[in-house]
Amino acid sequence: WSSRDFPWTRKLEVSNKKVFGNHSFRPNQREIINATMSGSDVFVLMPTGGGKSLTYQLPALICQGITLVISPLVSLIQDQIMNLLQVNTSAIPRDSTANIPAASLSAGMEWAEQLKIFQELSYEHSKYKLLYVTPEKVAQSDSLLRHLDSLNSRGLLARFVIDEAHCVSQWGHDFRPDYQSLGILKQKFPNIPALALTATATASVKEDVVQALGLVNCVVFRQSFNRPNLWYSVVPKTKKCLEDIDKFIRENHFDECGIIYCLSRMDCEKVAEKLKEFGHKAAFYHGSIEPTQRALVQKQWSKDEINIICATVAFGMGINKPDVRFVIHHSLPKSIEGYHQECGRAGRDGQRASCVLYYGYGDYIRVKHMISQGGVDQSPMAGGYNRVASSARLLETNSENLHRMLRYCENEVDCRRFLQLVHFGEKFDSTNCKNTCDNCCSSQSLIDKEVTLITRQLVELVKQTGERFSSSHILEVYRGSLNQMVKKHRHETLQFHGAGKQLSKIEVSRILHYLVTEDILVEDVRKSDMYGSVSSLLKVNNSKAASLFSGRQTIMMRFPSSV
Ligand code: ADP
Ligand code: ZN
Repeated sequence: WSSRDFPWTRKLEVSNKKVFGNHSFRPNQREIINATMSGSDVFVLMPTGGGKSLTYQLPALICQGITLVISPLVSLIQDQIMNLLQVNTSAIPRDSTANIPAASLSAGMEWAEQLKIFQELSYEHSKYKLLYVTPEKVAQSDSLLRHLDSLNSRGLLARFVIDEAHCVSQWGHDFRPDYQSLGILKQKFPNIPALALTATATASVKEDVVQALGLVNCVVFRQSFNRPNLWYSVVPKTKKCLEDIDKFIRENHFDECGIIYCLSRMDCEKVAEKLKEFGHKAAFYHGSIEPTQRALVQKQWSKDEINIICATVAFGMGINKPDVRFVIHHSLPKSIEGYHQECGRAGRDGQRASCVLYYGYGDYIRVKHMISQGGVDQSPMAGGYNRVASSARLLETNSENLHRMLRYCENEVDCRRFLQLVHFGEKFDSTNCKNTCDNCCSSQSLIDKEVTLITRQLVELVKQTGERFSSSHILEVYRGSLNQMVKKHRHETLQFHGAGKQLSKIEVSRILHYLVTEDILVEDVRKSDMYGSVSSLLKVNNSKAASLFSGRQTIMMRFPSSV
């Protein structure tokens, strides 16, 4: 597909330069455009910032007819349409006539307004080349399909573009039920080429997307998800986390631009408030702030009047700021895919940027609880969707995704890039990390320790206490504490009370966390008190624990030799 001998090649080169102001194509862009313009269905996996928009906007410009773009969020659509109408930031000035008008249809729109757009679209020389819609428009609006039919019968329907295509899949981290009904497009219009784009998809998500959309013989473009200019680290989250964050920014990125992802809306506000006290230009952004306020924050952020945005993941999709120098996670992300994508918003200009994750085991419990309640604060739309779609399967996927994230954080040995990329089915030789992650950089000498006996004792202890206590209580009993709680339940009389007194707290908690990451112990977080705080009880997964006791399994763990 990279050949330059397509009938449209020259037009492509010229428009890329003149209209979009780009000197050249980025990796895969030309190939994707050639494939979709040849009429094939195409699936594109390209990291955030790779330049996916161009791969359909450029064909839309030079092809006859309308390109239908399905995009998950109204705010994203508005961004795209604005970008198409305005100058871009490139050094080459664009033609003054180069604006590409695009229309959009969304649920909140007046009927008369929609009709006007349909009318305009139906002209042979419509001023619009692109029509953006949200997926529920396709799912719920017969009139849209009728108009597409009419365009198609006159040869004026050029192509379907499904942006953020991973939203089709329940295996993904951002499932949206309305995306599943998009299969109707290829059913009704099998001859119209479809282009599915995503920055995040594992092999199973890809299969799901291809099947649900009904893509035929589709050409797949996949690019490495490695982002060499991003530096990854996982840092223990302490009680002084906000002071730690302040110090980190001051020492490494003072007055530079960054995003701090927080779990809840309240966290966003608290973190922003505190950072302002510390003298940073910070603001918060989440799904429930007013649209006018949201627009204001975005504007201030793009003009550098605000450096730091404390946000839920609602802030992100479609952010185009190239010079984000750090992405901090104030709490545990919900999946590796989500994490990778959120980090991907840093360093789009190719310059070095930092991704720091503040990890505390307590956040695992918190997020797990949120997931079990069926609602995680994702985007303005997804909150509602997730509640509707809290099927058993979705719950399971979300828990599994979170569990992988836990394993990522608990891992103090393997290269972070390797751990992320393996998740996308990509092989990565960690010598290529070149010390740009905490684990590769670590000068701590590590020693292997056999912990088989300890793990058995801990699992026994969980059983003997009736699977009714938290991991911190188990830790106290194991290390021989005589605190109130221990005495109240007479746990000092248990066989393994104090069996681990020669071990440090850190060691025992790491071993307990290891047992959770291996699914031998399970956190049961359904209980919470009336104030909304979450408590969690450790349970034993008997089928997994069996092999631990059969004597067939030796468990080695790696510890910093200083512990
Ligand atoms: P994605 O959707 O893959 O995250 P975008 O389409 O938003 O990425 O593109 C990211 C940035 O890269 C945009 O600012 C865009 O203008 C720029 N860009 C895209 N293609 C090129 C190119 N060939 N040359 C220079 N800049 C480009
Ligand atoms: Zn590394």
